[in-house]
Amino acid sequence: MEYVSDLLCINCGRSYQPRPEQYLCGDCGEQGILEVGYDYPVLKKEWSREQLKQNPDPSIWRYAPLLPVRPQTPRPRLRIGMTPLYQSKALAERLGLNNIYIKDDGLNPTGSLKDRASALAVVKGQEAGADIVACASTGNAASSLAGNIASMGGKMRAVIFIPARAPLGKLTQLLVYGAVVVSVQGSYQDAYRLSERAIRQWGWYNRNAAINPYLVEGKKTVTLELAEQLNWELPDWLVFSVGDGCTIAGAWKGLVDLKQLGFIERLPRLLGVQAEGSAPITKAFKSGKALEVSEEDTLADSIAVGNPRNHVKALRAIRASGGDMVNVTDQEILEMIQLLAEKTGVFGEPAGVAGLAGLRKMTARGLIKAGEQVVAVITGNGLKDSKNAQLATGKPFRVEPDFQILERIVKEGNLI
Ligand SMILES: *Cc1c(COP(=O)(O)O)cnc(C)c1O
Ligand SMILES: [Zn+2]
Repeated sequence: MEYVSDLLCINCGRSYQPRPEQYLCGDCGEQGILEVGYDYPVLKKEWSREQLKQNPDPSIWRYAPLLPVRPQTPRPRLRIGMTPLYQSKALAERLGLNNIYIKDDGLNPTGSLKDRASALAVVKGQEAGADIVACASTGNAASSLAGNIASMGGKMRAVIFIPARAPLGKLTQLLVYGAVVVSVQGSYQDAYRLSERAIRQWGWYNRNAAINPYLVEGKKTVTLELAEQLNWELPDWLVFSVGDGCTIAGAWKGLVDLKQLGFIERLPRLLGVQAEGSAPITKAFKSGKALEVSEEDTLADSIAVGNPRNHVKALRAIRASGGDMVNVTDQEILEMIQLLAEKTGVFGEPAGVAGLAGLRKMTARGLIKAGEQVVAVITGNGLKDSKNAQLATGKPFRVEPDFQILERIVKEGNLI
């Protein structure tokens, strides 16, 4: 917090002194999403890559100087971030690339990249004096908020509005973490609107990532980390799946911060990937026109967002990077779940691998070349949604509990 300079409205440019419970520009309303600014010249003098290297903290808090939190506010006890980065020649080959890196954010404590944002929600909620934090979520934002709140040992509570569609794994997470769960019999948009109303009415802290500027700051730690893991040399392309747009916008914010500090020189191009049945941001990106609300027709529930709240930030980020967007079908997503897991041992949920499926399309079309360096972030863990993953896999080999039968099958070359 000591290096935060102000909150800037991305619509009108008005600057605000930061308050934890201020989410939007007073002049612009819903359009006036705020962005956290830092005093880069001072921070540059007081913080260096060498200092970071000496810092033994294996979590997002190693980047505290670039986060809008007070040092004394208690943080969630779960260890978030510093997820592994794997290089995979085997996967690269199948994608038409010489090389690829996979960052497995499904290894965060509740199984998705959302933990990075929920950690900030827990901290900012306390700074705002709230002991209830609420959100509407397609699943992961909610389950990660519930888990991070649970780690506070009963000091705080989570109230979660979920759409009827949420997969069982994610719903189960909410319930085991002890959150108050309101299952809204409608779409994500319906759940979102109801949560908004309730948050306003009862003064809860708002973890709806799209409009809360602090949560994007949490999400940006994914690129702070990535840059550090790659020794401050970023790839040509960085790939994310896109729902509300906060993740890709946050990733870009992290890179811009690092550039401002002189930690990195070169910025990657962003590839944003949406599901064909829910792709309003891709449509706006390609047409250059205002966003039109779309269907939410995809099994990749985490990116089934018909009315994305942060598309302005996302579109700006992708355009500023010289990047691109592409859509993938559910079938392409399912194939990628299996391919990624088989080639790397990393099991992603549908939205977690959608980015890779889009990357595959881009290389097939020649828009990303074999020699280009690519990093794809796997945003969520496959165990959250094993039901959909099973649509992509083969069946187990059925055999009677009799060795002779097994031996015969092996001899016939049917098993291995
Ligand atoms: C939330 C989520 C996304 C997309 O992030 P947005 O900020 O909504 O664009 C992608 N993958 C997973 C697994 C997610 O949970
Ligand atoms: Zn404004």
